[in-house]
Amino acid sequence: MSDTRCLSARPNGSHRGASQMPDAPEALSALRRALEAEVGDRLLVDEPLSAHTSYRIGGPADLFVTVEDQDELCRIVTLAREYQVPYFLLGSGTNILVSDKGIRGLVIENRARGSRLEVREEEAILQAEAGALLKDLAEKSVQHGLAGLEWAVGIPGTVGGAVVGNAGAYGGYVSDVLIQVAILQADGEIQELGAEEVEFGYRTSRFKAANCKRGAASPVILTAQFRLHPESVKALRERMAEYTRQREARQPGEPSAGSVFKRTAQYPAGFLIEQAGLKGKRIGDAQISPKHANFIVNLGQAKASDVKALIDMAREAVLKQFGIELELEQELVGEWND
Ligand SMILES: Cc1cc2nc3c(=O)[nH]c(=O)nc-3n(C[C@H](O)[C@H](O)[C@H](O)COP(=O)(O)OP(=O)(O)OC[C@H]3O[C@@H](n4cnc5c(N)ncnc54)[C@H](O)[C@@H]3O)c2cc1C
Repeated sequence: MSDTRCLSARPNGSHRGASQMPDAPEALSALRRALEAEVGDRLLVDEPLSAHTSYRIGGPADLFVTVEDQDELCRIVTLAREYQVPYFLLGSGTNILVSDKGIRGLVIENRARGSRLEVREEEAILQAEAGALLKDLAEKSVQHGLAGLEWAVGIPGTVGGAVVGNAGAYGGYVSDVLIQVAILQADGEIQELGAEEVEFGYRTSRFKAANCKRGAASPVILTAQFRLHPESVKALRERMAEYTRQREARQPGEPSAGSVFKRTAQYPAGFLIEQAGLKGKRIGDAQISPKHANFIVNLGQAKASDVKALIDMAREAVLKQFGIELELEQELVGEWND
């Protein structure tokens, strides 16, 4: 199912993180008091999400908390569930477009970044909290002469976001190296899921599919375990340097959220958008990058609605000219009008 159908299926035009409960204001106030007691002035109210996304776009979150470790993440999610307030799990905000109206309910920014490496005879196991940055794990593994994550050198997201979207680059995918994840279940228990239970697909997983259907409470990934294998540091460093060189040559430097659309069965989405004559097209301060047509960049003051208008335009043009339906790789979150 395409992300757009998931978006428009919502009766009130809202998407993930939007409250649909009649008593939402009371529940929100009660959660606010409980969170103030729990985290004090670390609880932010009406926090602009533009400060927490790589697009530098996004309206306010009613409530916003940054957590630094797994226990705190569990406590805060449990509170939100108790008060029946929708919550949204934010990693680095590098694969989402948050609406201009922002996200109703609670946004939890995950900065639980611990990691542990266990080197065995023929392989190594890297265990990381979901807020760890994938590129830091790539660097750490390469320092230890371990292959498996070096393709992630230029990916700015967290482990949680990378599992949700089965992040990948240069032929590598999270699904190739993931052993298992630990998730926080609705009953508060922690459950371990093997990689085969994560239902990975191209830039998707059961978690992304669940987000799309449910609209309210996000699944919560706490940790992930990766399998790495020994290789010479020199060879790994060379590969990483080549990936970085290619990225710098091909990708725009302005704020973006990476590739907008998934690769289609036949062609890269950027090629189709370029062929449709939209490379460089600008709406407000949002632009289909003149450097790479599958990137939309924020030239300064772009609104989410500007980016969405370019997304819709690209989709329509490609469908009309080539009969191909582009599917979003990025997730639209928050309250949308359409
Ligand atoms: C310049 C640039 C280059 C990029 N290059 C690539 C690339 O080469 N390959 C690629 O695959 N991607 C790429 N991306 C996209 C992005 O970095 C990845 O998709 C990344 O894995 C997203 O992680 P995040 O922490 O930013 O997730 P977010 O954007 O914060 O969140 C994405 C989704 O994951 C969910 N989520 C986050 N953490 C958790 C958790 N702990 N539990 C449950 N759900 C969670 C969120 O609720 C949301 O649904 C690029 C982005 C940029 C800006």
